[in-house]
Amino acid sequence: MSLIDRLSQQFVRFPGIGARQARRFVYFLLSADKSFVDELIRNIKKAHDEVLQCAVCFRYFETQNNGGFLCTLCSDKNRDASVLLVVEKDADLDAVQKSGAHSGGYFVLNGRLPLSGEGKSFVRLPELQERLRKEAHNGLKEVVFALSANPEGDYTVLELKKALAPIAQENNLVFSTLGRGLSTGTELEYSDEDTIKSALQNRH
Ligand SMILES: [Zn+2]
Repeated sequence: MSLIDRLSQQFVRFPGIGARQARRFVYFLLSADKSFVDELIRNIKKAHDEVLQCAVCFRYFETQNNGGFLCTLCSDKNRDASVLLVVEKDADLDAVQKSGAHSGGYFVLNGRLPLSGEGKSFVRLPELQERLRKEAHNGLKEVVFALSANPEGDYTVLELKKALAPIAQENNLVFSTLGRGLSTGTELEYSDEDTIKSALQNRH
């Protein structure tokens, strides 16, 4: 296999990238300045070495200060331990955090459950179950599902509620989902701050 093919196959593994786009990336890199390519390689390597995944919420974070395995949000004792917001991915968490509308904890689910059981699921259900069990003893009262407003998102919430029901019953936890009144985009990542704020206020 040629180097060009090998590189293309690596880019095809990126989310949302097809074979044609992957080729375009490769040809772009071939035509780019050496300094650009060198910096790209350095930054990818550095990010891979220095960005860790939080052991509690599973978001990626840079380790500058504590050197531990907790992100700044999870190690912040001033955050509200009674509400846990479940999001699909890091970019959604960033969007909610930027809106300033949520002061509780987070959990990054890692995607949605595929409809009709097709395709593989990478959703962190066992980890979420463990988190709820643990935090129910630390004041957790409500779990907010902040997933995409589309069939896959709805299906995932339904299945999560079923799977988590025993733990919720045992610990008197309440489930809620985001209000969709003002929903413009289907994904939190692309929603503006006011939309996120109102969706959180109107959760039910
Ligand atoms: Zn964290």
